Amino acid sequence: MNFHVLTLFPEMIMQGLHTSILGRAVQKECISIEAVNIRDYTTDKHGKVDDYTYGGGAGMLMQAQPVYDACQTVLKTIADKRAAQESTEKPVRVIYVTPQGRTFHQEMAKELAKEEELIFLCGHYEGIDERVLEEVVTDYVSIGDYVLTGGELAAMVMIDAIARLVPGVLHNNESAQTETFHDHLLEYPQYSRPEVWRDKRVPQILLSGNHAKVDEWRLLQSIERTKKLRPDLYEKWEQQQAASHCP
Ligand code: SAM
Repeated sequence: MNFHVLTLFPEMIMQGLHTSILGRAVQKECISIEAVNIRDYTTDKHGKVDDYTYGGGAGMLMQAQPVYDACQTVLKTIADKRAAQESTEKPVRVIYVTPQGRTFHQEMAKELAKEEELIFLCGHYEGIDERVLEEVVTDYVSIGDYVLTGGELAAMVMIDAIARLVPGVLHNNESAQTETFHDHLLEYPQYSRPEVWRDKRVPQILLSGNHAKVDEWRLLQSIERTKKLRPDLYEKWEQQQAASHCP
């Protein structure tokens, strides 16, 4: 899977996403992450990419032209590559990360992990000229109800969550299937060595070697934890259980 990030701060993306698990996934060529500097596409001779907003207002706005040209260049590169490989003409999703979008969640990450190519557009300052958003954006996505200075951290959060669902990125694909949010439940508590730490023992059942009993204990823990920490999710889980038991 290939991630393309349109940004004024490519170093943030490259430094932030090329370490640890994602860094190894890039080396193994399970994924690629390319940061495209929008400033490289401005036709302004002074390299300007922002200007004052019409109608007045405090901050600067990213201008349409460099964003449009950067995006079109990436789309063309993808189209050329696909043509050379004689592969599908599937439309490429261009995600504008914005506090005004739908809130990102695990199901969205799963859905986006099925794409071959994803383009993220990061705003800065007051945001981006509306006209170019209308031209290129397919999805408006937020990472939460707060305002960041720029879209880079939001894009990084989303790419991290999506990339770890791409086959081959995690060592053990199972870990993405049993963890928090799977089936609307939070993950059960986990323990590692030593067996006793500050007088706290690892629950005996986990040392028993009885996998069926361990699974049963973990499910119960997940249910209890979800009920306590995330009653909203617990309610969804209960509804799902009720629906699955309907004739
Ligand atoms: N003036 C904009 C508004 O009120 O909606 C906010 C602009 S914000 C200061 C600058 C950029 O940060 C946005 O264009 C967007 O790309 C990014 N951003 C800020 N908060 C975000 C969030 N919660 N989720 C995703 N992106 C965000």
